[in-house]
Order: sequence, then C-alpha cells, then structure tokens
Amino acid sequence: MISIWEKESLLNYDVIVVGAGITGLSTAASLKERSPQLNILVLEKGTLPAGASTRNAGFACFGSTSELLEDIDHLGEDGMQKLVEKRWLGLQKTRDRLGANEIGFEPCGGYELFRASDPLEDAVIPRLNHLLKDIVGHEVFMPCTEELKSLGFRHIKHLVFNKYEGAIHTGKMMNALWSYCQSLGIRIITGTPVVSIDSSSGAVHTDTFTFESNAIAVCTNAFSGNLLQNIDLKPGRGMVMLIKPERPIHYTGTFHYDRGYYYFRHFEQKLLFGGGRNLDYETESTVEFGINPKIRKRLIHDLENLILPDQSYEIEMEWSGIMAFGDTKAPVIQQVDHHLFAGVRLGGMGVAIGSMVGEELAELIIKTYF
Ligand SMILES: Cc1cc2nc3c(=O)[nH]c(=O)nc-3n(C[C@H](O)[C@H](O)[C@H](O)COP(=O)(O)OP(=O)(O)OC[C@H]3O[C@@H](n4cnc5c(N)ncnc54)[C@H](O)[C@@H]3O)c2cc1C
Repeated sequence: MISIWEKESLLNYDVIVVGAGITGLSTAASLKERSPQLNILVLEKGTLPAGASTRNAGFACFGSTSELLEDIDHLGEDGMQKLVEKRWLGLQKTRDRLGANEIGFEPCGGYELFRASDPLEDAVIPRLNHLLKDIVGHEVFMPCTEELKSLGFRHIKHLVFNKYEGAIHTGKMMNALWSYCQSLGIRIITGTPVVSIDSSSGAVHTDTFTFESNAIAVCTNAFSGNLLQNIDLKPGRGMVMLIKPERPIHYTGTFHYDRGYYYFRHFEQKLLFGGGRNLDYETESTVEFGINPKIRKRLIHDLENLILPDQSYEIEMEWSGIMAFGDTKAPVIQQVDHHLFAGVRLGGMGVAIGSMVGEELAELIIKTYF
C-alpha cells in the first residue's frame, strides 16, 4: 500500500539505473549531463557499491604488449585498436570529469615483465606502436631492460615501458564519482537490491517498493543473471593482496606479466599484487567473494621468487572482486527489450572503459526514449 505522495513524487523516474559501480554511476552522470531535466534514480544492492568497482587494484591501463597480441588473435587488429581506443578515451573521460587529483591519478607509467619463458619477438614493439599511433599520438611501448637493475626483481629477462599508463586511487575515484552524481541531482538509494524488472512496463521491483520508469539501465555486470536473460556473460573472480615489504618500495609504476593475468603496483611504499585467475577458471567463475588457496599460493610463490626476493614481507590485507566476461572482450551496450537497456560485461577493463560504456549507454537511451 503506497500513498499518493509516494506515487506522485518518489516512485516515478525517467530512468532507473540498477547498480552503482563505475558503469551505473557513469551512465547516470552522462544521462544528466546530456539532458539535465531527466529525473534519475540509481538503485544499489549493497550498503556501498558491492561489485568490482570498489575492489580492483586501481590500474589506469590500456594493455600490455602480450595482452594486445592476444587481443589481435581474438579480435583482429581492428578490434584490438577499437578496444584500446575505448580504454584510452574512457580513462581520459574519467580524469576530465572528476579531476586527476580527485581520483588520485598518478601518471607513473606501466611496465611489462618478461621471464625467460615469455616470448618477446623484436618485431612486436614496432608493430604495436604503429597500430596505436593514431590513437595515442606517439610511440607507446619502448624496451627498458636496463632499468631492471634498480628494481630488484629476479628471473626477469626483459622489461617494456608504456609511459601512458598510470594508477588511480580506486576509493577516491568512486567517492568522487558518487559526489559528482549527487551534485547533478541524481538520487542514489543503497541497500536496495532490485528483485525483478518488468521490461514491458518499465517497472522495477524491490522488496519494499515498485518504482516506475520510462527506461531501465541494468549496470550490474557480473551480477546480472536474474535481471538479464540471454546475454553471454560469465562471472570471473580476481584476488588482490596488499603487501608491506621489509624494505619500503622505492619505485612507482604499474607492472604486468603473463598477458596481463598477473599485476602489481606501488601503493604508497607498499605493493598491491593480484591476478592468477587463469590458474583455475572453473572455480573462479563465481559471484561469491573469497580467496582460492591455489591462486594465493601461486601469488606468494611469485612474490617471493620474482618480485620481492630476499626480503620478508607482511600480507596486510587481501580481498576479491568479481568481473564479468564473455566469448568476446567487447562490452555489451544495448537495448535488450522494450524499456530495458544493458551496460555490462566489462571484463578486466572496467576502470578504463566504464565511463565510455556509460556515455554510449546514455546516448542510446536518450536517442530511444527522450
Ligand atoms: C581484482 C580486480 C582487478 C581489476 N583490475 C582492473 C584493471 O587493472 N583495469 C581495469 O580497467 N579494470 C580492472 N578491473 C575491472 C573493473 O574493476 C570492472 O570491470 C568494473 O569495476 C566494472 O564496473 P561495473 O560498474 O560494470 O560493475 P560493478 O562494479 O560490479 O558494479 C555492479 C554494481 O551492481 C550492484 N548490483 C548487483 N546486483 C544488483 C541488484 N540486483 N540490484 C541493485 N544493485 C545490484 C552491485 O552491488 C555493484 O555495486 C578489475 C577488477 C577486479 C575485481
């Protein structure tokens, strides 16, 4: 039973966005930037955003050489270029919209590590630089193996530098995005899971109220199973550890190896280290948070043998986050049904592409309905 006041003023919106991660909040922000008169509600299941956007490692990156070569194998050169462009523009958009300081952006550059067993052919760097030149404007990758001496790693044979990569403070970024949405007059309600959606009427059902809308944007990424049917989407869990080494880290940078499956970066004078999902895809295809002992063991092995040899360390924190993957790396940005739209499946790239996915989804919704 609801009152006329609730019906008139509190339960009716032009657009309801489901999920307050980087994609949902970016979609809401883009809608409001394009059409300030729109009345927008964001409904979030968690007390705080509870997906990948608050649990990643804060890499502002658009791909290492081995990851991009793998992308070419799956998507072709053109597909790889499109994806890099989306990541590059997305990172710029987030910075321009929220401010570099506000998101804790550090233009520290990114490095790719090659062990003796990792292939690095001479032709790869010129080939990728040629393919990316029109997107970034300059040469992207350069060999920098001579820097290895000062980094203290072991069993690393080559190092490749990308000066355009950087790091963000994920917590600050989500805080800034949240505040920005509020400054635009977007209503955000947390602790309210959407239970079901009626795509023919635009009704959004929660345990407490049914909200009405013209358009619903589902931005629940890995957690979309009960809201979006027939979309190729698989959850993929990733883990991150915060490591305090005996000797404080003296370098800055984001680091990747093995096609981007393993990554670490400086955080203050500590290390954030994560990845290893490819060791156990089956177990990691889950929406349950948790730590896989097999992956943890491998991360600790690499930490002690490659990254921090000959020194003790403390694992201060560890956590997991859930991403969403499909047969292709491209995100889903589409009208799914009459009043229903989706911006999901951001893979391991959502920090980079989240604001562009939001922009494209907002454009599609406005073109269709307003
Ligand atoms: C360990 C890890 C490392 C990563 N590293 C990188 C990286 O280096 N670079 C990069 O670009 N990206 C990286 N990512 C990926 C990036 O974090 C994600 O792609 C991105 O955060 C996805 O954002 P999203 O808003 O689409 O989804 P999410 O952040 O998952 O947001 C979805 C939101 O929907 C809410 N929700 C779910 N169901 C409901 C419901 N029924 N009703 C209401 N709300 C609901 C959830 O609580 C959540 O807040 C990483 C991710 C992880 C986990």
